[in-house]
Amino acid sequence: MKIQELHTKQQQFFSSNATKSVSFRIEQLKKFKRIVQENESDLYSAILDDFGKSEFETYASELSLLYHEINIFIKNIRRWSRRKKVSTGLANFPARSYIIPEPLGVTLVIGAWNYPYQLSFLPAVTSMAAGNTVIIKPSELPPKTSAVMAKIINSNFSPSYIHVVEGGVQTTTELLEHRFDKIFFTGSIPVGKIIYKAAAKHLTPVTLELGGKSPCFVLPDCDINMTAQRVVWAKFFNAGQTCVAPDFILVDKLVEQKLLKALKNTIQKYYRDSNDIGDTYVQIINTENFDRLQQLIDADKVYFGGSRHRDKRYISPTILQNVTFDDEVMRDEIFGPILPVIPYTDINEAIAKVKERPKPLSCYIYSKSRKIVKQILNEVSFGGGAVNDSVMHLSNSNLPFGGVGFSGIGSYHGKAGFNTFSHYKSILHKPFWFEPSVKYPPYSSAKLGLIKWLQR
Ligand code: NAD
Repeated sequence: MKIQELHTKQQQFFSSNATKSVSFRIEQLKKFKRIVQENESDLYSAILDDFGKSEFETYASELSLLYHEINIFIKNIRRWSRRKKVSTGLANFPARSYIIPEPLGVTLVIGAWNYPYQLSFLPAVTSMAAGNTVIIKPSELPPKTSAVMAKIINSNFSPSYIHVVEGGVQTTTELLEHRFDKIFFTGSIPVGKIIYKAAAKHLTPVTLELGGKSPCFVLPDCDINMTAQRVVWAKFFNAGQTCVAPDFILVDKLVEQKLLKALKNTIQKYYRDSNDIGDTYVQIINTENFDRLQQLIDADKVYFGGSRHRDKRYISPTILQNVTFDDEVMRDEIFGPILPVIPYTDINEAIAKVKERPKPLSCYIYSKSRKIVKQILNEVSFGGGAVNDSVMHLSNSNLPFGGVGFSGIGSYHGKAGFNTFSHYKSILHKPFWFEPSVKYPPYSSAKLGLIKWLQR
């Protein structure tokens, strides 16, 4: 179907008010979940073919989050969609005031490739929960996952309501020529800017879920072995191709060697077969990214790992030591299995270095010191994060997920997602039985006195 025709069909369907019914939304969310469940095996084999991601990782990091959020929406959208009374104040007496959550209309979800199902489907079901129609444009980089998403959605839903459009830059550019009521984009900062500019032409509101270099502070008072376990898991899950992965470590020089050793031991424990892609380790998405990552591995600084096979698009979990902020690897988001470790002697200087750079999507602090944790949380601005853990904050639907500054605009997950895809319409509702004359001409000093008294 032509994009123009699809867009018009969705506008017409939205105008019919069908999606405003909460019962309709709940029914469609249940159907969405059932369809994904029925097609799980196709979803697993597509992603395994595309970049070697196992069923375990796909379920744990993509489908479980999707099901969890759908369940939350089914349970809560009736309550969230109700109008909410607020107080009115004397100036408008007698009246009632209330806020009506309403859907925005036709929405566009543009996904990234690294968690292809989650990053396309989760914003889509959130938009459905809020009562919108949705066009999904998944990333074209993993072609089989994009195809399977299109197959299962397009063969089960009317295009007037929800539809997957496959394609790359050209297709996205064509989509962006149309006026959407909301664009939800997940991807890189440079493409985020393109989306923002295209949306501005139509004054379309955007949510931009972008990336950045997320720091990980390791203080000398933390439990080093447990820190290593949590950091290694978070960094090398999906071979480091995670927007919220710890990008680099800032460690107190006092415990640098202890940490390096613990990181190495943990990698050896988790990735025993550390010379290949297996159940626990995925491929780099394409050779372009493989080549980019390969250049970031400075042989003189490799503490552990560093092996790779271009044909298999494999890079082993790699730790770099004695890294400085001037090194190539510290320029842009790494987005791969390379973990630079930067030692510091003064935590204030380490914090200052992080603050000089664009605000990251995440930040992690490993310390038992309330004072240090409080200081970093107070001084460093970032999207979200964790204390004594990494990445897992995104699994709590009560925590809005999103960036700040260069790492993004807006947030989602749980109620925050419902808000993102809704407009809150404010209403003042008056009766006819009384109308004070104070605001009407002719004005007088007595009326002015009364207004001033009311506003005192
Ligand atoms: P990307 O920006 O290259 O692509 C994202 C989407 O934009 C894809 O669907 C792609 O087809 C489309 N696109 C690419 N170039 C375009 C152009 N010129 N015009 C219009 N559309 C275009 O990002 P990616 O490589 O898929 O993902 C990696 C990036 O995404 C990383 O920076 C990562 O941090 C970020 N990311 C962020 C989150 C988050 O939730 N904040 C999650 C995952 C990934």
